[in-house]
Amino acid sequence: MTRNLLILGGTTEATALGGAVAEAGLRGTVSFAGRVERPKRQPLPQRIGGFGGVEGLRDYLVSHQITHVVDATHPFAAQMSGNAKTACAEAGVPLIALTRAPWGAQTGDSWTHVPDIAGAVAALDRPAARIMLAVGRMHLNDFAPNPQHFYLLRLVDPPQSPPPFPDHHVLVSRGPFSTADDRALMEAYGIDLIVSKNAGGTGAYAKIEAARELGLPVIMIDRPAIPDRAEAYSVDEVMAWLGHGTDLGV
Ligand code: NAP
Repeated sequence: MTRNLLILGGTTEATALGGAVAEAGLRGTVSFAGRVERPKRQPLPQRIGGFGGVEGLRDYLVSHQITHVVDATHPFAAQMSGNAKTACAEAGVPLIALTRAPWGAQTGDSWTHVPDIAGAVAALDRPAARIMLAVGRMHLNDFAPNPQHFYLLRLVDPPQSPPPFPDHHVLVSRGPFSTADDRALMEAYGIDLIVSKNAGGTGAYAKIEAARELGLPVIMIDRPAIPDRAEAYSVDEVMAWLGHGTDLGV
């Protein structure tokens, strides 16, 4: 049977996979939630917006005759990943996740682990500090209870409404970032604390290395739980899972 993939995207890995899939001549569609104003251009057709929960995704899989789903969403996109697992099981469509291992603390790192955004907010209930807050624009309002801090905000798009804390600076940039640049940034803004999701991968790691070099503490937001599923850690592994290169009707 000819493959017809659905790639749940929004990550660098999904973009790389889209390139490999297009190059291999496979059919596929990349799906975005629509959070970012200018998603990276894909060499595959794309669709934008939620499916309407598990039921909507299951209907989409059936009506579009999807043969394989690759969940290449961000490790913090737990809702989408959970929905994908359930919808694929219900529709009988094989699923694999293209993901990345979480970062682990190394010698020189000073991390305080918190389980979620609420934990990070609670950890910031302390005297005023200069904080680099790298959690994405959707979560800025959560930090309203701690307006005493200066926040350096690095976002893919400008905030949709003014952040709920008076002392802040917004940097709009998509990355990837270099350790040297992030170190210079932290020094320029006198940062003394970093708040980061444990995204894993290389694209967002520069600030963690820069914090280590500068001896700065990091509040590390641990990953949300995601139901068990088949996982791959490289585009090549996904292509092998798709049977690319074997005589399976590609
Ligand atoms: P989420 O909380 O897990 O998902 C919430 C809802 O958004 C889903 O139920 C689904 O709506 C819709 N959705 C999410 N990803 C989608 C996709 N790729 N295609 C179509 N609909 C999608 O997701 P999130 O954490 O807000 O992340 C949204 C997107 O941003 C994902 O594509 C993710 O890869 C990307 N991203 C997230 C982060 C992060 O830190 N969370 C960082 C970088 C990139 P329906 O239920 O209506 O289908």
